[in-house]
Amino acid sequence: MPCFWSANVRKGRRMTSPPRDTPAPEPCGGLSRTRLVCFFCGVERPTDLHPVCRACGGTMIARTLWPGCLPAGRCFWDFADLLPVANHRVSLGEGGTPLLKLRRLFPDDAVYAKAEWTNATGSFKDRGSAVAVSAALSLGAEGVICASTGNNAASVSAFAARAGLPCIVALPKGTPANKITQAKAHGAIVLEVPGDFSDAYREAARIQGAVAGWANLTSTYLNPYMTAAHATIFYELHAELGEVGTVIVPIGAGPMLDGIMQGARTLHEQGYLKRLPLPIGVQGVGCAPIADAFARGEDVVTAWPAPVQGMAGSINDPLRGYPDDGTRTLRILRSANGRAVAVSDSQIRRAMRDLGRHEGIAAEPAAATPLAAWRDLAAADLPRPIVLVISGHALKDPTAQPTAAAQSLDIDAGATPAAVVAAAMRQFALKS
Ligand SMILES: [Zn+2]
Repeated sequence: MPCFWSANVRKGRRMTSPPRDTPAPEPCGGLSRTRLVCFFCGVERPTDLHPVCRACGGTMIARTLWPGCLPAGRCFWDFADLLPVANHRVSLGEGGTPLLKLRRLFPDDAVYAKAEWTNATGSFKDRGSAVAVSAALSLGAEGVICASTGNNAASVSAFAARAGLPCIVALPKGTPANKITQAKAHGAIVLEVPGDFSDAYREAARIQGAVAGWANLTSTYLNPYMTAAHATIFYELHAELGEVGTVIVPIGAGPMLDGIMQGARTLHEQGYLKRLPLPIGVQGVGCAPIADAFARGEDVVTAWPAPVQGMAGSINDPLRGYPDDGTRTLRILRSANGRAVAVSDSQIRRAMRDLGRHEGIAAEPAAATPLAAWRDLAAADLPRPIVLVISGHALKDPTAQPTAAAQSLDIDAGATPAAVVAAAMRQFALKS
């Protein structure tokens, strides 16, 4: 079979850019210009596969030196010079997600949805996997491992397959079957761990600590390359909107929110942004260690003391064993005058229904939390434009969809056309 290039050259096609996962001809991007900096004590060192602070045990920031100017472009890899990646790039076409104005829910307002469910594996996690798997390859990793509530496992296993690396994922028992199916489809070893996400976290760390040369891609703050990748969400928003007033984000430990604010701070420091966006992190009330600490005016987050509950499984992280991750997110929020809030399952269901019926957006429960928080936020006072990050697709967890719970949509086959149309009109007339 001819290679991609030779096939297209023979056909006379003009190629303006190489396929995204083809190694660039010269080392590029920022991995060689990246330093690991401890978030808590500020100690620096070069990049490596075990990015935890050796001085205080804290989590790190992958800080890439400014390349001199803001790269032109609107999509993920356009910003490679700002990311901790070298010439090994593993890609499934991530990023460049649509920014959708929510015209029916907010007809006279500047409220947008960042459509992260359109990434290849159905969630925003693909941004982190693309950068972290690419960095792992460049740093000589022999395999990758992660703990996950499901979406990160699906994503890391896909990118590991693409990279030709073995992959192990640790998930809490009860993870939605569709997410497990995704990981298995890519050939990952799937460990279903009794307990919650923190138990899976410990299991992944236990295995990674016992072998040399494997990278831990757990989507907390364990992997700073992964966190840095989420800055691309902000770079893309900036390319479309310019100034961003408020960004509302689902948070477990909070690395997506941290990454978004890393991107905003970078552009602010370099004079491309007049003001930082107001960040708002949203958790479910059944597992809300960060929102709880925020509400109590604390400066330090403690692990969630109660059993984990609630339908927003993707962000149900009790932070047991690593509460400093929550403290890091809390500090990011406070430093930008942001907030952390918690929403109930009934609020989440209503938001899922509103997004689905009025905007054509099928969100999994965690992805609907930014809208679920809306009515508690005194939204009229929030700076515009407002962006809701819709992090994952409803098909990730279809049993959580509220669609048919309230009333049956089924009409007997063979019913008269008038009866079918009447049913459709009744359904259409139902409002929130
Ligand atoms: Zn430190």
